[in-house]
Amino acid sequence: MLEITDIHTYYGNIQALRGVSLRIGAGEIVTLIGANGAGKTTTLMSISGVTPPKRGTVSFLGQDVTRLSTERIVSLGITQVPEGRMIFPRLTVKENLLMGGYLRRDKAGIRADEEKVYGLFPVLFERRTQMGGTLSGGEQQMLAIGRALLARPKLLLLDEPSLGLAPLVVENIFEIIKQINADGVTVLLVEQNAQMALHIAHRAYVLETGRITLEGAARDLLNDPKVRSAYLGLD
Ligand code: ATP
Repeated sequence: MLEITDIHTYYGNIQALRGVSLRIGAGEIVTLIGANGAGKTTTLMSISGVTPPKRGTVSFLGQDVTRLSTERIVSLGITQVPEGRMIFPRLTVKENLLMGGYLRRDKAGIRADEEKVYGLFPVLFERRTQMGGTLSGGEQQMLAIGRALLARPKLLLLDEPSLGLAPLVVENIFEIIKQINADGVTVLLVEQNAQMALHIAHRAYVLETGRITLEGAARDLLNDPKVRSAYLGLD
C-alpha cells in the first residue's frame, strides 16, 4: 500500500532522515520505534507531505505522492494524527470531529462516520457539546483519532498516541487502534512505548539517527536482544 524508498529529509541544513526505506501492506499495523530525535515524526511528516523529502520517493497505492500537497495526500487516503493531538480547544468535541471531514462533500457518509466514531469512543458522544480544551489527555487523544477517522483514511499515521497518558488509558487506546485496523484501516504507528507498540503491530522498523537499523515481525523484535536492552529496558 505504501512504499518509501531511500528518503532524505532536511530541516534547513539539518538532515533528519538519511535514506529511510520501508513498506506497509494493506491491512497491516506497522510500528516505527526509536529514541528521541531518531526521526520518527519526520518520517510521518515526509509521508503526509508536511516536510517533503529532498531525495527518494513515497508511493501510495502505486502512485508517486512525494511532491503532492498535504490536502491532496489526505484526499488520496492518508491521514496523520499529530503528536500532542492538536485539537481545537475552543471548538466543541463534535465540531472538532467534523473538521476531520472538511475535504468531504458526502453529508450522509460524514454523518455515518461520526456515529461510528461515537461507537468506538462513547465518551466523545457524552461530551459532544463540550469544548475540546476541557477534555482529559486521554479523551483528547481519542478525539484526535476520531477526527482523523472522519477523513475516511485508508492509511492512518499515528504519532505517539500514548504520550503522557496513564497505563490504563494507553491500553484502552491501543485496543481501539486494533479495532480500527480490524475494520480495514492500515496503520503506521510511531511510538516510544515500544513494548505496547510491538504487542499490537504485525511488523516493526527500528529507526536510529535517521536510518532504519532493524526490521522484522513484531514478535521477533520483542525477542531480539538488542531491542530488549535498548528499547524495552529488559535483560
Ligand atoms: P521524538 O520522539 O523526540 O519526537 P523523533 O524520532 O520523532 O523524536 P524527529 O522529531 O523526527 O524525531 O526529529 C529528527 C531530528 O530532526 C532531530 O534531530 C530533531 O532535532 C530535528 N528536527 C525536528 N524538527 C525540526 C525542525 N522543525 N527544525 C530543525 N530540526 C528539527
